[in-house]
Amino acid sequence: MSATEKKLSGKIAFVTGASRGIGRAIALRLAQDGAKVALNFASNSAKAEEVKSAIEAQGGAAILLQGDVSKFEVVTELIKKVVDEWGRLDILINNAGITRDNLLLKMSEDDFDKVISTNLKGVFNCTKAVTKLMMKQRCGRIVNMSSVVALKGNISQTNYAAAKAGIIGFTKSAARELASRGVTVNAVAPGLINTDMTAALSEKVKELMLQEIPAGRMGTPEDVANAVAFLVSDEAAYITGQVLSVDGGMAM
Ligand code: NAP
Repeated sequence: MSATEKKLSGKIAFVTGASRGIGRAIALRLAQDGAKVALNFASNSAKAEEVKSAIEAQGGAAILLQGDVSKFEVVTELIKKVVDEWGRLDILINNAGITRDNLLLKMSEDDFDKVISTNLKGVFNCTKAVTKLMMKQRCGRIVNMSSVVALKGNISQTNYAAAKAGIIGFTKSAARELASRGVTVNAVAPGLINTDMTAALSEKVKELMLQEIPAGRMGTPEDVANAVAFLVSDEAAYITGQVLSVDGGMAM
């Protein structure tokens, strides 16, 4: 690497849920590190456009790819677009996620299914869609967004915790399948991070959660992006099948 070359120069990344919050911060960070970034989102075109403009303003390259990660055929088409545009795909960040919180007694079947299909099946869909390509390239980095809730459980989040714990099992299994081809698969487990998702929580719930965080503060999307930037770098080539908590000590 020359002095002017960046860590991820020449790399192509696909980030799901890149219009807001953690996905946005990851996309910006990977672009700063030199990657070209495909920005996936569900419906918020205005926010996604802002991220694209911010990347371009820093001299980076980005494309927008609207589409629902829970639909396999949609995801396959999006991955094809990335490869048509840039010829390869080195980094997949499975970040898109939703919550539909409710006590088990009150949780509808639809709320359970929606969270599983977006948060867990979405990870399967995107990973499956890139697997052949990454195996052929004999290199690749996949990072899946789990959660502290997968490790500890949480009241009103049986659907979300099941999906996020499922991601950990998925990550370890995919890591075993792909390791010999130079593809690493890891999970990041954020704690309480300041985004639209947690803005929906009441102040009382946030206060209670803060008491459980040894670091004494919420995390920022950039805290999570820093960990992801490490896991996709060459320095992390020998790290696979791991779950990296980014939670101020919350899960320990
Ligand atoms: P957020 O601010 O609510 O943003 C969610 C992102 O996901 C948006 O870009 C949204 O797109 C996209 N998205 C939602 N459903 C989608 C679908 N079906 N297909 C494609 N994109 C979809 O969430 P966040 O807080 O940044 O969370 C990001 C990830 O981290 C999630 O997996 C979440 O579970 C996980 N996480 C978050 C926290 C936390 O404290 N915030 C903690 C642990 C784990 P639109 O803008 O178009 O809606």
